[in-house]
Amino acid sequence: MLKKIEHIGIAVKDLKTSNELFKKLLGVPHYKTEQVASEGVTTSFFDVGTHKIELLEATDANSPIAKFIAKKGEGVHHIAFEVEDIEVELTRLKAEGFELIHEVAKEGADNKRIAFLHPKSTNGVLIELCQERPNKD
Ligand code: ZN
Repeated sequence: MLKKIEHIGIAVKDLKTSNELFKKLLGVPHYKTEQVASEGVTTSFFDVGTHKIELLEATDANSPIAKFIAKKGEGVHHIAFEVEDIEVELTRLKAEGFELIHEVAKEGADNKRIAFLHPKSTNGVLIELCQERPNKD
């Protein structure tokens, strides 16, 4: 079961400019910036009530975000759902016929383990599953 919308990911060309724009829009500054080398992105997060907004800027021309912007322009990139157990959900969704981009969960931003479902199996919407990592002590 997908518990709730955790965040909405928005692809942007220039993180610095968009951080300012979203600060004006939401009335709060972003609370963290993080690079995810494996995805070729720099992200920033805004807290909006019970949900978050994640802005994503490509760090290289081959990153999925760079390709997304080249094809579709800036805009909503994915919806992320929080799950209790990402392995259980990946197995369940695969059995339901959804196409997984990641068969195995990977390290994501914001202290999460993540995996994506292919938009061609979800009505054109890129879906991210994310599970909070236990805090390392
Ligand atoms: Zn995300």
